[in-house]
Amino acid sequence: MSAMTSADSLLEGLNPQQQAAVTHSGGPLLVVAGAGSGKTRVLTRRIAYLMARRGAAPYEILAITFTNKAAGEMKERVAELVGPVARSMWVSTFHSACVRMLRQEAARLGYSNSFSIYDQADSLRLISIVSKDLNLDSKRYPPRQFQAMISNAKNELLGPVDYQGATQNQFEQVVAEVYALYQRRLQQANAMDFDDLILKTVEVFQRFPETKSRFRSRFRHVLVDEYQDTNHAQYQLIRELVGTDEDGIPAAELCVVGDADQSIYGFRGATIRNIMQFELDYPKAKTVLLEQNYRSTQNILNAANAVITQNESRKEKNLWSDAGSGAPLVGYVAESEHDEAEFIKDEIRTLQNAGTSQPGDTAIFYRTNAQSRVFEEVFMRAGLPYKVVGGVRFYERKEVKDLLAYLRVIANHSDEVSLRRIINVPKRGVGDRALDYVDEFCNTNFIPFWQGLLRCNEISDVPARAASAIHEFVTMITALEVLVEAKVRPSVIIEAALEQSGLLAELSGSTDPQDEVRVENLQELVAVSLEYEERPFDALGEDEEISLQGFLEQVSLVADADEIPDGQDHGGVVTLMTLHTAKGLEFPTVFLTGLEDGIFPHSRTLGEAKDIEEERRLAYVGLTRAEQRLYLTRAESRSSWGAPSFNPASRFLDEIPEDVIEWRNQSASGFKISTRRNFSAPAPLPRATGKKSAAMDLALGERVSHDTFGLGTVVALSGEGDRAEATVNFGTYGEKRLLLRYAPVEKL
Ligand code: ATP
Ligand code: MG
Repeated sequence: MSAMTSADSLLEGLNPQQQAAVTHSGGPLLVVAGAGSGKTRVLTRRIAYLMARRGAAPYEILAITFTNKAAGEMKERVAELVGPVARSMWVSTFHSACVRMLRQEAARLGYSNSFSIYDQADSLRLISIVSKDLNLDSKRYPPRQFQAMISNAKNELLGPVDYQGATQNQFEQVVAEVYALYQRRLQQANAMDFDDLILKTVEVFQRFPETKSRFRSRFRHVLVDEYQDTNHAQYQLIRELVGTDEDGIPAAELCVVGDADQSIYGFRGATIRNIMQFELDYPKAKTVLLEQNYRSTQNILNAANAVITQNESRKEKNLWSDAGSGAPLVGYVAESEHDEAEFIKDEIRTLQNAGTSQPGDTAIFYRTNAQSRVFEEVFMRAGLPYKVVGGVRFYERKEVKDLLAYLRVIANHSDEVSLRRIINVPKRGVGDRALDYVDEFCNTNFIPFWQGLLRCNEISDVPARAASAIHEFVTMITALEVLVEAKVRPSVIIEAALEQSGLLAELSGSTDPQDEVRVENLQELVAVSLEYEERPFDALGEDEEISLQGFLEQVSLVADADEIPDGQDHGGVVTLMTLHTAKGLEFPTVFLTGLEDGIFPHSRTLGEAKDIEEERRLAYVGLTRAEQRLYLTRAESRSSWGAPSFNPASRFLDEIPEDVIEWRNQSASGFKISTRRNFSAPAPLPRATGKKSAAMDLALGERVSHDTFGLGTVVALSGEGDRAEATVNFGTYGEKRLLLRYAPVEKL
């Protein structure tokens, strides 16, 4: 494909406003428009256009999307348009982009580049440890509340010192103290929480102009999708990266797209202000409005428009569609949440039998994760294939977190939260008492936890049995660390960790059927790592090395929406997800469920006008996901905490004009499902794991060679079978203890 023709075809299927946005060159560009008007399409085409027509190199482009999956798809689409050079573009979420920049710059901030990324649970754990150290009563001072307040501060770019300076009451004083200590402990653990990823990147840019210049001269084009959901820290990050002409490097070309009516992350610090005031922040900005919706029928749009107009202080938009009015919306009042799920299941079947819509074209949305349970029960019984996105996620399962904690410790033994998690998993006789003594020893000697463990034989209070268990533990970890250094593939390291730690043996030996599932989950993680090794470019692109670090990073950064089944028909299954996760997606058939005041809008938001407005935007997001068929359902009674509660119809239902919606009575409610069908959930297939070479016979003094360390001489041998180790002197690399099963050497 020549550059000429490709650039021309790049404008095909775009209306004049969209074309203007794609071809705009120079100053900042804002594309504001309602749902389904082609904002994301503009962004994708613009990237391709920049390369095909304007000579931009792929590495000069930084594009930010809402999920890694969206990033992957965008990259694929651009690759279709301009070829495989698209690979070296940075198309990713804010978090992934920041991690990549931070890996190169971590040392400047006193972190090593193998830093751990703490998720919500890890961060809460550390905050609890900190609160305990400060002797704070967890009833009066719930760690969760600290977590939320610290997160807010970070999203506002307030470090511990800034926060301390701005406190207004005694409670905030306490938060400031917790925040300061939490941050110190994170640093000691060589770990960053999610908010840090953004905050620290901004910090690097602000403190080290040469770093900023490097990235600024590289990224000539910055594009951001879903701009309405950026928080202050993300906003600042973009500002720093784009810069101004006065800095010596010309400002990057910025293009942001978004819809203030779809801002749904206010509770996480997102601020509509960023999109509303774009023209003030970037005085030379050009704004493009898109008004035609290509996604939905007019009936669906009328409903969505009618709801969102109820919000005050918004810019009126005129969104229209020429897809025709389409089928009316269908409303259904169920007796209970079970009835609601039955209705939906029957309806999906009816549409399928009539050839109108397939399960893979269907999505079910709800306000909170817990609402998925009833759908799952009903669908499972009916043998209707489905996939729940989000909820208790794979990576949050205990056994998976345990294994990941091992891997994180192997990659970064300063990671205190992970160390504490696994030191006695599986049980090896290291009790809390013994650990308290280690803590005390660490505190008096000002050493980190790992050092304390290494030196536990110096702590007289630790019982001999525990001390020897700790010693064995650190020896095992040290041996596994050598695998990382030897650049052994992640899948092999994971297997080594599974076997050496005893995690696998413990579960395999159990007769509890749950443990069988757990073993499968662990095997699934090995499968994920094999996939990672095969497609290392997908997540982030460019020539990054396959490494344990890279694998952990990918795993840490998956978002709910990344789990949506692949392909046009979503694997042929019904997709269930929360409204928040549905952002940016589209489905021919949509069921918007639980439309009850107290459920949606959520009871927590009923008090304040601004909270209700955010819920209404969420409703707007939900309604506008539908292409052809939209169902609105509510239940008259719903059990909450075991007792039935009766919620009135959602106010959002009342806001929808009567003429676009057709209510169905529960005429068929006499029939109840009584046959229980056998449904076996598809279990993840354990896949073949990496090849291992058996431990070999080696003799002292023998000369060997290793892929990473080169030539060496065997100086010691220990262990047998799986645990056979050779200590090899590799000259400049020094002596290495190699677990031979996973890091084989070749005899010369
Ligand atoms: P949202 O606000 O939900 O993120 P959006 O504004 O990003 O929506 P897109 O997802 O880019 O909208 O587009 C919505 C649908 O309309 C997609 O299926 C897209 O392919 C299609 N579309 C966009 N522009 C056009 C066009 N000019 N002609 C035909 N179809 C279009
Ligand atoms: Mg979009």
